[in-house]
Amino acid sequence: RTGQSVTVIGLGPMGRAIAAAFLDRGYAVTLWNRTSSRADDLVSRGAVLAPDVEQALAANEVVILSLTDYAAMYDVLNPAAAALTGRVLVNLSSDTPERARAAARWAAERGAVHLTGGITVPPSGIGQPDSATFYSGPRETFDRHRPLLEVITGRTDHRGEDPGLAALFYQLGMVMFWTSMLSYWQAIALARANGLTAADILPHATETANSLPGFFAFYAERIDAGHHLGDVDRLSMGTASVEHVLHTNADAGVDTALPAAVAGLFRRGMDAGHAADSFSSLVELMTKGEA
Ligand code: NDP
Repeated sequence: RTGQSVTVIGLGPMGRAIAAAFLDRGYAVTLWNRTSSRADDLVSRGAVLAPDVEQALAANEVVILSLTDYAAMYDVLNPAAAALTGRVLVNLSSDTPERARAAARWAAERGAVHLTGGITVPPSGIGQPDSATFYSGPRETFDRHRPLLEVITGRTDHRGEDPGLAALFYQLGMVMFWTSMLSYWQAIALARANGLTAADILPHATETANSLPGFFAFYAERIDAGHHLGDVDRLSMGTASVEHVLHTNADAGVDTALPAAVAGLFRRGMDAGHAADSFSSLVELMTKGEA
């Protein structure tokens, strides 16, 4: 034992991996979960299952929350609100920046400090030196508990005092993750409709994905410089291309919701007069949230 201790509330795949990582490092771990049986393996490794939320909160200053969302946090903690005074809530549940800000105010009203966390790895990355979590909230609290936080992921990235920032950085990653993965499902659907397997297209899919960071860097500089020169690509060319994508999918009889949405954005850019600009001009239309 290190003499250090922590409470973990929420024992989904993430919470269980987090609790296991603390046990691995010799922490005394107190647990609570709505479905208590999910604690069984951890208890057999020496963790203590608190009989109720109050006692889980009372056991330690630092309370890790790993719940589905912030609504679950209120469900769990509201009945035990009196026990929140003096606690540091490290909330690793994902949700919106606005809900993280509201939770920080809610915690402060009850004498607790809220640190927002956004873990960027799946359960298999927990406890690994190269995995990372975004944090935001009081810097002093973050610094004081940094060694404990580094048990969860080896790297910690404090984005600022605004409790919404860690949630924002988490969501920035998720925007890209879900959409990119759906683009991969789309390619697999199209491949299968043509008699190919996911394995057949894996090398090509991987090469395509690996080419993206070069585009990110190239366009980031131009976008921040405020121009969308049509010198290397023109929106009119891109629009023709995404129409080919849409029709290739339609001809194969696979779902067209995703390629149709993409083609719709390009058409709106054309309608807004950007035919001769780069397709990066779509970012202006998307920023304004209007056609
Ligand atoms: P799960 O949704 O599987 O587990 C969530 C936990 O929340 C369970 O312990 C569940 O309790 C509890 N819970 C949900 N609703 C309620 C409620 N109303 N009242 C009480 N308890 C509730 O999530 P994960 O463990 O997979 O992930 C936890 C968080 O981490 C999520 O916010 C997720 O977005 C985030 N995350 C997950 C990643 C992943 O790969 N899994 C990666 C990065 C972040 P019970 O056991 O009783 O159902």
